[in-house]
Amino acid sequence: RNSCVSDSSDSVISSGSDSDGQIYKVVLLGEHGVGKSSLARIFGGVEDSSDCEETGNTYDRSLVVDDEETSILLYDIWEQDNSQWLKDQCMRMGDAYIIVYSVTDKSSFEKASELRIQLRRARQSENIPIILVGNKSDLVRSREVSVDEGSACAVVFDCKFIETSASLHHNVRDLFEGIVRQIRLRKDSKEE
Ligand code: GDP
Ligand code: MG
Repeated sequence: RNSCVSDSSDSVISSGSDSDGQIYKVVLLGEHGVGKSSLARIFGGVEDSSDCEETGNTYDRSLVVDDEETSILLYDIWEQDNSQWLKDQCMRMGDAYIIVYSVTDKSSFEKASELRIQLRRARQSENIPIILVGNKSDLVRSREVSVDEGSACAVVFDCKFIETSASLHHNVRDLFEGIVRQIRLRKDSKEE
């Protein structure tokens, strides 16, 4: 388990919204090279991963956060192919989203904003949990996007924000715990 489960899992259908057995689909978005697959592999607990570099992967894992267990299916399939169909599918399928840019690449930051706008358009009336992630925080000297710019953007886009370093495993755990907490918050507010 925890290895590269190739391709997406249409077989996994979330059960009713109140069931403890529910699996939440979290989709990674962001430009090529920002670190999506690196983050996903850390989440999946895959250490040596050269063999699952290219294709889209899905990682299945349960996280215990605040003494409660939640199952997450993490989709790293955004770049699997270039079809519009896949992009549309990604925008529709997620229960939550992680939008990644690299702090060393301003254009990936601008792309993140675009993705946020597309997501809002695709899922208009829904209040979907989103975390904006500035990855590669370890590359101090080539930084092009400041922490303040990142967090200001998250305020504008009404989502959470965190900077990570997949290379140093810095804040990666916080990121995934954060997404679990966001999912729970939205779920609870729906039930009330
Ligand atoms: P993806 O295209 O978004 O899936 O990005 P990858 O995960 O394949 O990463 C692209 C490149 O950036 C790879 O060479 C990674 O080793 C490198 N990389 C990813 N995350 C970090 C990070 O936090 N710090 C540094 N220095 N490099 C990173
Ligand atoms: Mg990748």
